Amino acid sequence: MKIERVEDEEGETVNSEPVNPLNIWVLVQHREGSVEEASLGLVGEARRIVSESGGRGGVTAVCLGFGLGPELEGLGAYGADRVLYVEDESLARYHGELFAGELFRLAREYEPSCILAAQTPETADLCPRLSALLETALVTCAMDLNVDQSGKFHAIRPVSNGYLFEDILLECRGAPIISFLPAVLTAPDPHMTRQVEVLREVPAGQPGDLRTKVLRVIEADPEDLDIEEADIVVSGGRGVGRDEAFDVVHDLARAIGGSVGATRPVIDWQTLPYERQIGQTGKTVSPKLIINCGISGANEYTAGMEKSQVVIAINTDPRARIFRFADLGVVGDLHEVVPLLIERLKEMKGADD
Ligand SMILES: Cc1cc2nc3c(=O)[nH]c(=O)nc-3n(C[C@H](O)[C@H](O)[C@H](O)COP(=O)(O)OP(=O)(O)OC[C@H]3O[C@@H](n4cnc5c(N)ncnc54)[C@H](O)[C@@H]3O)c2cc1C
Repeated sequence: MKIERVEDEEGETVNSEPVNPLNIWVLVQHREGSVEEASLGLVGEARRIVSESGGRGGVTAVCLGFGLGPELEGLGAYGADRVLYVEDESLARYHGELFAGELFRLAREYEPSCILAAQTPETADLCPRLSALLETALVTCAMDLNVDQSGKFHAIRPVSNGYLFEDILLECRGAPIISFLPAVLTAPDPHMTRQVEVLREVPAGQPGDLRTKVLRVIEADPEDLDIEEADIVVSGGRGVGRDEAFDVVHDLARAIGGSVGATRPVIDWQTLPYERQIGQTGKTVSPKLIINCGISGANEYTAGMEKSQVVIAINTDPRARIFRFADLGVVGDLHEVVPLLIERLKEMKGADD
């Protein structure tokens, strides 16, 4: 946050402070008992906003679920002052009506200043429901959030394919809801000594009252996962070749449980659809692992993948720019290296079975 500098009566510049202490809520998402990385980043982001507002106020991590324990206490290390945990078997899996109803009830009781979420398919469903119930403002795809001297929130979001950014002033009576692009959220370094208070709540909603019911859950093929959601991305460039030549990238993705991405030339060839393009005019990804095959590493591409945690690059040109971003680089022909890698992965998998 940029704290506005204003002049006092003597003409000295002083830091101004928001009118009320901030009570920032972070909606915590979890999968298989672990808190999502983006939620940790969001807690850190909320802490930053409170600190830059003069440290007045606090960060509440709000979690709906079942069977969670130490992972919630761990949120203190990332900047949460307290955790509000609504626990029930009916909340083990996301349900739009149920989650929005519980959060609406809690928000009315605790009156947060704003509610932050990391943008995922669940929150894309949840945030509009909640903003309708609370009759408040909603900003999606946010990249930054600040508070001005009068305590009003300003969110920054990209428009026009990332060529322009909007500075949005949130003027509403209730707590505005802001959902952040996961790619801008990275977990801060944890402060293990920070304590957190965990408040447990029982849900008020009755699952029997719901108008929709989840009948079954269908597992996605990792290869088809949205590249923004995937933990592993295998990305191919012009060096792979078009059409059938690109099968080698699909084969590697299948062997490693990854989703397939590409550079713009591959999309222009129509070898893959536009939703698979990574980069300035495509999607921004931040997977745990990205393997770049036959990609030079142009600015416009790396802008969309530089937040990836571990980067591997395979390229015949040792001077290729992509190697500047790589934790592990292989100088070689991908059509020789990748089949060997797949073979080795299969051997390792066979040894495990
Ligand atoms: C306004 C604008 C927006 C753009 N937006 C995007 C965007 O969002 N995303 C994007 O990707 N691009 C974008 N581009 C295009 C970008 O500038 C690059 O042209 C593009 O990223 C290059 O893609 P590439 O790395 O696949 O191809 P190249 O730059 O041609 O690189 C191919 C690489 O493959 C290597 N290679 C060749 N054969 C082999 C082999 N057998 N084994 C291993 N390596 C091999 C070569 O050494 C080379 O490094 C944009 C451009 C503009 C002007």
